[in-house]
Amino acid sequence: MDHQQLSMRLKKVADFVPKGAKLADIGSDHAYLPAYLVINQQILSGIAGEVVKGPFESAKSLVNELDLSSVIDVRLGDGLDVLEASDCVSVITICGMGGTLIRDILERGKQNNKLTGHERLILQPNIGSQVLRSWLSKESYVIIDELIIKENGKIYEIIVADKSSESSELSKKEQMFGPVLLQDPTDIFKEKWLQEKDQFSNILKQLEQSRETQDKKIKEVTDKITLIEEVLS
Ligand code: SAM
Repeated sequence: MDHQQLSMRLKKVADFVPKGAKLADIGSDHAYLPAYLVINQQILSGIAGEVVKGPFESAKSLVNELDLSSVIDVRLGDGLDVLEASDCVSVITICGMGGTLIRDILERGKQNNKLTGHERLILQPNIGSQVLRSWLSKESYVIIDELIIKENGKIYEIIVADKSSESSELSKKEQMFGPVLLQDPTDIFKEKWLQEKDQFSNILKQLEQSRETQDKKIKEVTDKITLIEEVLS
């Protein structure tokens, strides 16, 4: 398991994991991320959590094949339910899911006292990053880093957040575009938001053509387009 076998997306996530971290990778499918991090001596041990039996078995197989079962614990369970206080996890990664699902996993983890606030969160939502940033902001997490990448024609965002004692609410604009990504709009960032703008323009056309008056929705979409134009200008 070397960097050539790991997707660029997960490699970028791995780059954010501090050396010596106690990692829990939730939704760990093949356990690629914890395996890569252990083999490259970036972490000493890890937990791979999976809720679906098939991917759980795949994770177990890879860990056994690589002879890593003494250092990677593969656990079957929903979200952060797989964690115990004695695990003393310092980093939680949740990657390759929708932002709403990641938000729900974190919210349930918080309600069940599985999320202590001491963990660094490294999150890679495939879509719906605004929902996720909004939750992080509401829960007093500070986004300390972000990255936007493109792999195999798909654009992905990575969000790194720490719990803070001071509340620093994100504006609507920061929730939508990302407070760190906004600072330095890369070509991939611009590409993503031009695509989004096209989609919103199509939605707007359909709304304007529909017989029912949808003033509220039209305003919502128009505001989004205006914001994108402002950021890209
Ligand atoms: N994290 C890997 C990656 O980024 O390549 C796998 C992504 S895969 C698309 C999403 C995985 O999350 C699936 O294996 C799915 O079974 C798992 N999953 C979805 N909801 C989950 C939950 N509530 N708890 C744990 N795992 C979950």
